[in-house]
Amino acid sequence: MPTAPLSIMPTIVGNWKMSVTPASAEALAGEIRAILDAGDSVGCVRAVVCPPYVSLETVARTLAGSDVAVGAQNLHPEPEGAFTGEISPQMVREFADFVIIGHSERRAHFSESDDFIARKVRAAFDVGLKPILCVGESISERRAGDAERFVSEQLLAGLSNLDDLSELLVAYEPVWAIGTGETATPEIAQEMIGALRFAVRDSFGGDFADTIPFLYGGSVNAGNVAELVIQDDIDGALVGGASLAAHSFCAIVQNAAKSTHRA
Ligand code: PEP
Repeated sequence: MPTAPLSIMPTIVGNWKMSVTPASAEALAGEIRAILDAGDSVGCVRAVVCPPYVSLETVARTLAGSDVAVGAQNLHPEPEGAFTGEISPQMVREFADFVIIGHSERRAHFSESDDFIARKVRAAFDVGLKPILCVGESISERRAGDAERFVSEQLLAGLSNLDDLSELLVAYEPVWAIGTGETATPEIAQEMIGALRFAVRDSFGGDFADTIPFLYGGSVNAGNVAELVIQDDIDGALVGGASLAAHSFCAIVQNAAKSTHRA
């Protein structure tokens, strides 16, 4: 029987998308390190930054020995072969501990299916990467009153190749809240994440349901992170736009550390 981890570490993940060059990624990582090293301890919160592939090595080098971990934004599920332009799990693993999988931009712009995403989650586990599996409904699913069913099914589909979820993180990211400035209310985010935890409990048991960090993503910033991470089931945030400036990303980490109910 697989063993689940004993406690949840609140986690703030910065998704730098396709918004930094290698030079600016190195500078951003260096600034984040300097601010967090100089400030009050945020030891109860795990910070992760996810640069583009071409910057993984330089960012990993810049952050080596710091409290900030590195993640990738994607991977290909096959271990090697004729997949021009793709990056294998093992290639990512040389520089990163985490990997974002199933971001709504990949589902929408690159037609990634639940099945393909499930293969990626499995492949990440197989090389010791911690997958951050993203799920979330569109505005039409929410307006149709179908959001909870849709997102729960999306989550379980992404986990369909697994029986051990010990190193998994899940990010609930309503598509209508990503990059729009429109954040889900803490109540909406809590309600959905509570339902997702229930779905995991139902399919995989309480040990995993109680120990998976569930993040919220969608226009999170330093001003709204506290009211999110104080919710019973929310264990951190996946941050896009506000992670691209060191001072705002660090303020999110610091405010989460002050407010998390998990501390
Ligand atoms: C994201 O890209 O995952 C995201 C949540 O973006 P933003 O914070 O800009 O809404």
